[in-house]
Amino acid sequence: MKPLYDSLTRRVGLAAILLCVPLLLGAERPKGLGDVQDVRTWSYPDYTRVVVELTRSVDLAEDALVRLAANQGAGRPERLYVDVPGIWVGRQYVDGLPVGDGLLEGVRIGQNTRYASRIVIDLQRYGHHRMFTLRSPDRVVIDIYGDRRPDKEPGASHSSSAKRLSMASRPIRKVVIDPGHGGRDPGAIGVGGVREKDINLRLSKLLARRLRARSFEVVLTREDDRYVDLEERTVIAESAGGDLFVSIHANAARNKSLRGIEVYYLDAGHRRHNLDVAARENGVPRGQLDDLQTTLSRLRVAEASHHSKTLADTVHHDLIHGLSQTYSSVPDLGVKQGPFYVLFMSSMPSILVETGFLTHRKESKLLRSERYLDTVAAQIAAGIGHYRTRNRQITAEAAASRKARTEAR
Ligand SMILES: [Zn+2]
Repeated sequence: MKPLYDSLTRRVGLAAILLCVPLLLGAERPKGLGDVQDVRTWSYPDYTRVVVELTRSVDLAEDALVRLAANQGAGRPERLYVDVPGIWVGRQYVDGLPVGDGLLEGVRIGQNTRYASRIVIDLQRYGHHRMFTLRSPDRVVIDIYGDRRPDKEPGASHSSSAKRLSMASRPIRKVVIDPGHGGRDPGAIGVGGVREKDINLRLSKLLARRLRARSFEVVLTREDDRYVDLEERTVIAESAGGDLFVSIHANAARNKSLRGIEVYYLDAGHRRHNLDVAARENGVPRGQLDDLQTTLSRLRVAEASHHSKTLADTVHHDLIHGLSQTYSSVPDLGVKQGPFYVLFMSSMPSILVETGFLTHRKESKLLRSERYLDTVAAQIAAGIGHYRTRNRQITAEAAASRKARTEAR
C-alpha cells in the first residue's frame, strides 16, 4: 500500500507544480492538448490549398473561419483566421510560412489562448473559400479561391473556370492516372506479401502507355514508390488540368474467397456504401467515415457525379467484357458508389477501379502477371476511349441543336 500512497502524493505534488509553472511563465503548454505537426500549401490556378496537420482531431464549424478587412494603418493585409481549440502551437509558426502566389501572402499560426491556436491566412486576393477537416492524419484543409493575376494570363484563369462550367461539352484530352498508395503506405497486403502499391504502380504505367497509344495526354500522380497525400493527389490532378481522373487500386478482404472487379464513383449524398473499401482507400478507420461523408456532402460535386457515373459504367463494361474474352470467370462486382476523398473533384469526372483481390489466391497470382495487368490496362483504356467518343457525340449533338435554334430565330 505504501508505494501507492507515495506515488499518489508525488502525482498531487507534480500536478500542483504543473499548475503553477504556466502561471509563472505564461507560455507553458497545458496538458492534454494536440500539436501542429505540419503546415503545407499548394498553389493551383484557381485556388490555393492550405493543410494544417494536427496530432488530434478538431471539430470546426463552417463559419468558424472569419474574414478581416485590411488595416492600412497597421500595414496588415486582408486576412482570414480560424481558432482551433485544443491545439498547442507555441511559437513554431508565429513568423509564418511565406506563400506569395498571388492569392496568399502567407500562413501564420500562433497561440491565441492557452487552449487554442489561431491560423491566420494573409491574403493578396480573395474570391471565396471552403474549409473542412479530415482524419488520419487529423488535419484542417482550407482552400482559398480567387483570380490570382487578373492582369496577367487572363486566358489561363478564364479557360479554367469555363472548363468547370461546361464539363459535358469539352473534349477529353488529358487523363490523370492515380496509382493508389505508395511509399510508407503499402495499401493492402496480399497472398505471399504482395503489396498493393506496387501492383497499382505497374498497372498505372501500363495504362499510361495504352492511353498514349490512343493519343491521350497522361499525367500520373506518382511515377515511383513515394507517399502522396490524398489532398495532394487531387491538387496534382486539378493543377494538370485533367479532363478525367482514374484511381487504380487492388482490393483485399478478410474473407479469402472474395474476388472480382469493381468500379467506384463518388457519392456524397447516400448512406449505403461498401464502407470497408472506402475506409481502406481513405486511410481512415471505418468509424470515421461518417465525418468524411458529412464533409463530402457539404461540398458540391453533383455535376461531376453524373459524368463520373457514365465514365464508371463505360470503363466497367469494357473491363468485364474485354477480360472475359481472354480469362474464364471474371467475377463482376459491379459499379458502386462510395465516399472516396480522392474522387472528390468538382472539375473532372473521376472513378476508382478495384482491379481484383490480392487476398484471393488466384487473383493475386493474376495481378502479379504482366500479361494480365496489361490486359486490364488495355480494357480500361478502351473504356476511356469509348467515353471520349460518346462525349464527342454528345458535344456534336448539342452544337447542332444550338445551331438549329439560332437559325430558327
Ligand atoms: Zn487501395
